Amino acid sequence: AAQKETLGFQTEVKQLLNLMIHSLYSNKEIFLRELVSNASDAADKLRYLALQNGDLYEGDAELRVRLSVNKDAKTITISDNGIGMTRDEVISSLGTIAKSGTADFFKNLTGDQAKDSQLIGQFGVGFYSAFIVADKVTVRTRKAGESEAVEWESQGEGDFTIAEIEKAERGTEITLHLREEESEFLETYRLRGIVTKYSDHISIPVELYKDPVPESEGPDGEKIEAQPGEWEAINKATALWTRDKSEISDEEYKEFYKHVGHDWEEPLTWAHNKVEGKTEYTSLLYIPKKAPFDLYNRERQAGLKLYVQRVFIMDDAEQFMPSYLRFVKGLLDSNDLPLNVSREILQDNKITQAIRKGCTSRVLKMLERMGKNKPEDYQAFWNEFGNVIKEGPAEDFANKDAIAKLLRFSSTHTDEKTQNVSLEQYIERMKEGQDKIYYVVADSFEAAKSSPHLEIFRKKGIEVLLLSDRVDEWMMSHLTEFNEKPLQSITRGDLDLGDMDDEETKKAHEESEKEVEGLVERVKTALGDKVKEVRFTHRLTDSPACVVADDHDMSSQMQKLMEQVGQ
Ligand code: ADP
Ligand code: MG
Repeated sequence: AAQKETLGFQTEVKQLLNLMIHSLYSNKEIFLRELVSNASDAADKLRYLALQNGDLYEGDAELRVRLSVNKDAKTITISDNGIGMTRDEVISSLGTIAKSGTADFFKNLTGDQAKDSQLIGQFGVGFYSAFIVADKVTVRTRKAGESEAVEWESQGEGDFTIAEIEKAERGTEITLHLREEESEFLETYRLRGIVTKYSDHISIPVELYKDPVPESEGPDGEKIEAQPGEWEAINKATALWTRDKSEISDEEYKEFYKHVGHDWEEPLTWAHNKVEGKTEYTSLLYIPKKAPFDLYNRERQAGLKLYVQRVFIMDDAEQFMPSYLRFVKGLLDSNDLPLNVSREILQDNKITQAIRKGCTSRVLKMLERMGKNKPEDYQAFWNEFGNVIKEGPAEDFANKDAIAKLLRFSSTHTDEKTQNVSLEQYIERMKEGQDKIYYVVADSFEAAKSSPHLEIFRKKGIEVLLLSDRVDEWMMSHLTEFNEKPLQSITRGDLDLGDMDDEETKKAHEESEKEVEGLVERVKTALGDKVKEVRFTHRLTDSPACVVADDHDMSSQMQKLMEQVGQ
């Protein structure tokens, strides 16, 4: 007696469903990619657990996913023999969105469909995309090694039902009851086309049933042999990263990214490398186009998918990328790590360190190359991820120079907010006699741009970098020079621009100092203990005075930060 229970979707799921059905309709065939991608993940997970406990295979270790259609019932069924789900897993995976920060994210939706639909890309589409083409979805699943099986069913509106069922085969079977107008997906050639387009790289076979052919007679009365019906793989079914680079098309790399990256946009770029020698591994690293909504969430899972000798081991292995490259997606396949490797073992491990070092410099090189060869792509990258890269100089001392090359700034050269000036470009434009890279940090771009400290620089035509992001102060405290040129804040200490003055200017300065003799003393007396020192400056042209920090003092922005945290 199967008891059926009705449960409500989490509010955000309802919003996501709504958004998805309307905004992805023009690309509706991707539902199949998402479901096949999940089946492949489920196979990976089972294979991993079976390393420890072979019984989980229940005598069937040939993992695959099968597609079948029922034209009368107007249904498609996608069935896998992967890990399956328990009742609790079904409820949490297919009833909620289990990403931290989700609720906040959904609060930002505007109700404007065009705008909001772009946001769902940051989210990944996943299982719920089934409702783009189906008005009812039935999921029957049994977890490997368990006896209880469950059936989940929903029309994609407010709620779903869940009931206990009998299911002999381990794994998950998803039946889509197609909407009236979606019967095109009942044609197997159509399904075959979609699988070839999106899922060729999936490492388990995706099979379609080939109908039996009865014995018959040919036109000349000859006998045509009967053919039994059978399941036939319609994809390549070899792990993409194990194939030779020269045999993989850009399209294949892009589709594979959507699978490993759980992203629906294409990547910006990627690097695929087989490393041989002391440590042997293959890495396939992607730079996404768009930042995920939770890039700054501390609880966010980030990292690479880890395989050992082709066997999936874990998602989100964060040990192989430094935090300032946490947006990188992709995978690693190691030949040296043990199959029973755990997060704890990875934590403190020579092989991990070697791979991390290799992957880090691989990514830095890939970005540097993009900056040189595809400046437009690089600008798009910088606009999305620049603030994360800015954490680099503090985190990764060894790669400080490589990171500094990647930085982009606003500057008085254009006075535009877009951060598009590199330190190398700055150096090329340096004035005769200028030996430092000058910058100013302020609370906003406008404040930086109109800082009184800039007056003398503008007058002399010396470029100054304009910094105003929250991390800038902190970054600059770790970045003291680039290509042997010191970086100098123009609000700090004594600015000696004298070397760049001509004789006439120098004389004029001396004379003007004489004219106001005694002024410094009077100001000093008036301000008393409030200041450390009062001195003449020639750095101002229009403003009468400005406050500067000592070389070793905290800057005003840092002081404000400290006050905020109650110091
Ligand atoms: P994602 O794949 O990005 O995690 P999905 O929405 O595609 O998100 O799937 C949500 C979750 O549902 C998966 O993480 C997985 O736990 C579970 N799931 C979906 N399909 C299957 C399946 N065929 N077998 C086992 N678990 C599945
Ligand atoms: Mg998925």
